[in-house]
Formats: sequence, C-alpha cells, structure tokens
Amino acid sequence: MQDAADLVIVGGGPAGMRAGLLFARAGVDTLVLEKHRDFLCDFRGDTVHPSTMEIIDELGLLDAFLARPHQRVSEATVRFGGRDYRIGDLRQLDTPSPFIAMMPQWEFLDFLLGAACHCPSFTLEREAEVAGFEEEGGRVGGVRLRDGRRIRARRLVIAADGRGSAVRRMLPVRTLGAPMDIFWFRVPKALGGDGLRGVFDPGRILVLINRGDYWQCALIFPKGQAEALRARGIKAIRGEIEAGAPELGDLSAVLTDTAQLHLLAVALDRLERWSRPGLLAIGDAAHAMSPIGGIGINLAIQDAVAAANILAAPLLAGRDVDTLLKPVERRRLLPTRLVQAGQKFAQDRVIGALLTADRPPTPPLALPLLDRFPPLRRLPGRMIGLGIRREHVRSPATSA
Ligand SMILES: Cc1cc2nc3c(=O)[nH]c(=O)nc-3n(C[C@H](O)[C@H](O)[C@H](O)COP(=O)(O)OP(=O)(O)OC[C@H]3O[C@@H](n4cnc5c(N)ncnc54)[C@H](O)[C@@H]3O)c2cc1C
Repeated sequence: MQDAADLVIVGGGPAGMRAGLLFARAGVDTLVLEKHRDFLCDFRGDTVHPSTMEIIDELGLLDAFLARPHQRVSEATVRFGGRDYRIGDLRQLDTPSPFIAMMPQWEFLDFLLGAACHCPSFTLEREAEVAGFEEEGGRVGGVRLRDGRRIRARRLVIAADGRGSAVRRMLPVRTLGAPMDIFWFRVPKALGGDGLRGVFDPGRILVLINRGDYWQCALIFPKGQAEALRARGIKAIRGEIEAGAPELGDLSAVLTDTAQLHLLAVALDRLERWSRPGLLAIGDAAHAMSPIGGIGINLAIQDAVAAANILAAPLLAGRDVDTLLKPVERRRLLPTRLVQAGQKFAQDRVIGALLTADRPPTPPLALPLLDRFPPLRRLPGRMIGLGIRREHVRSPATSA
C-alpha cells in the first residue's frame, strides 16, 4: 500500500475542506481526496450562515471571505395562500455577520482551499475517487481508489464524501424519509426584488433566493414525480411558476426547455454509528440533510470543527484516536437530531400536507404572529443563523 498521510479525508466538499484546513493548520499531515476535477457544480447549496462566518472569523479570515462575491440575506418571507408573511430576521444577532451570505459553493470551497494551501501539511488530490476502504486487523487503515491505487492512512480516515458515501456500505443507516424532490433553475431578475421568499400553494411550493442579478429558484413537488412533471412539458411548468411567483415576470423566453430544470432528490437520514476503528464519518456522509433551512453545509462544517477540536492535538502527538471517535459523534448527535426532527416536522406537517392539498391552506397561527410582532422574528432568525450547540475553533494552530 502507498504510504500517504497520517490523516486521509475522503471528499472535498464543505465538511472535507473545512476539516482539511483545520487539521493541516494544526500541523497534522493531511491528504484530502476529491473525486471531481474542480469545485464547479451548480445548485450544491450556497448558504453560508452566521455560525459558519463566526468560525471563519475565529480563523482571522472573515474579511477575505466577505471580499468574495456574495449576496446578503437578512430576513425571510413566505407567501401562504396569496399573502406575504415575514417570518425570520437575522439583523439583531450578536455575531460578526448577522446575515446569510449567499455564495456559490465553488467560490466558498475555493476560499477554503486558498486558506488550506498556506499550511505545509495540507494536500488536495483531485480526480481521486475512493472506491472503498482498506482494513487491516479489524481496523480501517486506508482507502482504495477507483484507479486501483491503495493509500494508507497512518492514523485515521475521515469520510466526508456526502450522502452517497462509501461508508454507508459499512455502517447502518437510519432513514427518516422525505415527501418531496426539487427542481432547481435560474431566472434573470427582470423586476428586481430581494431576500429569501417561499411561496406555498396547494400542490406547489416555490422558493426564490436573491442571487444579485438572478433568482435561484426551487420548485418543490411530491417525491418521485419528476418524470411525470417533465412529461407535462415546459409550457405547463412555466405557467405554474408564473402563477405562483408573478414577481419573476414573463418566463416564456427564459424557461424554454425541461433540461433547464435540475433534479435534486431530497433525502433525510443518519448513520446509527458514525465511526468504527480507524474511520469517522462527518457531514452528509453521517447525516444527509433536507434543504429546509439551508442548514446542511453549516452543520457539516460544525462537524468538521468538532472533529478537529477533539482529534487534532492527539493526532499531532501521535496518540491512538480510536477511543475519541465516539465523543465526536456524541458531541454532534444532539444538534443533528434536533435539526433533523425540525426538518422532518416541516416536511411532513407543512410541505407534504401542502403538496397533497387541493384547497388553499389555512396559514399556521405562527405566521401572522411572526409577521405582526418583529421581536418574535428574531427567534427563527437565531435558530437558522446560529443553530444549536455551535462550535468554536479550539484546535491548535501550528502551521497557519
Ligand atoms: C436539494 C438540496 C438543496 C440544498 N440546499 C442547501 C442550501 O441551500 N444550504 C445548505 O447549507 N445546505 C443545502 N443542502 C444540503 C447540503 O448540500 C449538504 O448538507 C452539504 O453540502 C454537506 O456537505 P458535505 O461536505 O458533508 O457533503 P457534500 O457537499 O456532498 O460533499 C461531498 C464531497 O465528496 C466528494 N465525493 C463523493 N464521493 C466521493 C468519493 N467516492 N471519492 C472522493 N470524493 C467523493 C463529492 O464530489 C463532494 O465534493 C441542500 C441539499 C439538497 C439535497
């Protein structure tokens, strides 16, 4: 087996790149293996929350981060039964960046890579797809690449390869289910507009995210219906979108082909165990998140921070870290469970119910209350922006 690194991280997404940066910054010999040639993948989730920007600030990188192109979202609105309600406000949060930064994920990953490249013990290898794990004496001791190479991890493998992770063939998964799938598409901004909007109508939900000169749009529909929807043709789909969100203007020259609708199948699940000797799963590999709340990237990053806080110093000291893997899971399980429970509630009680409804819905009581009393809107803003049990960087910095 090729002897490669003390720590091998599978996956160069938000969790893998953040973990790579933190472990390498601590001086741990770190190799990140990413299957794609570049980060250029659209609609991967582009929301960077205040809790993540706190971590960036703790690393002294906030100004550099905010110098990258982004839009700021400070409040959220939903349209329910034809009426707009303001439901969340982040402006009062006591944090360096009280807003959600909408930044293309490739830009964010490139930013993390730039910071990691200052650490001599960091290596990223692209076009390096991991096909499986190598075991020695009941312990994961490395990875096997699709091209046949075998790479040894002298101390630990971290699986941060998302919800299709190879780790899911080794560790049991608990599926929580999701009643919906999503088409993502873009619409140039003809008529202006700002913020983050949800439009809830019977049988159809639309989400509009301000991306500067265009709207990033999500059309949410019952799970498994993508082909049936496409078969109705772009004209019918366009008509539905125009009816739900007139602020998008006339879409006849904008949405001309169903190929412009990118399908994302929604999943909500988590591993029953996040580790086994020599191997730890973090981010979506450990818990696939629903897009509700745009929280997945941020939770994945918090996992990476917790893992580095607990494991970086012992790894650097050459200690066996197998007994420390469970404490990482224990630390991150509570926020994961609570966020997933909230997502499941919203999926089943609001989204699923609405997608199968045939009459205009009665808005939940919370909506008029939140709209009427601005201080109440700070609570959802806080839950979304800062989350539960947010992590702070405590791992050492020996090679930044
Ligand atoms: C429809 C939808 C919309 C979403 N929108 C948002 C949003 O707006 N905001 C938000 O915060 N979250 C959103 N999420 C969730 C979010 O995308 C994930 O929670 C987040 O990306 C998880 O980060 P990760 O690093 O754990 O995994 P991923 O982002 O999935 O990254 C995994 C990385 O591993 C690489 N990889 C995979 N397999 C291998 C392999 N075998 N070998 C090597 N590399 C491999 C992949 O190429 C990828 O770079 C959304 C999810 C869905 C389904």
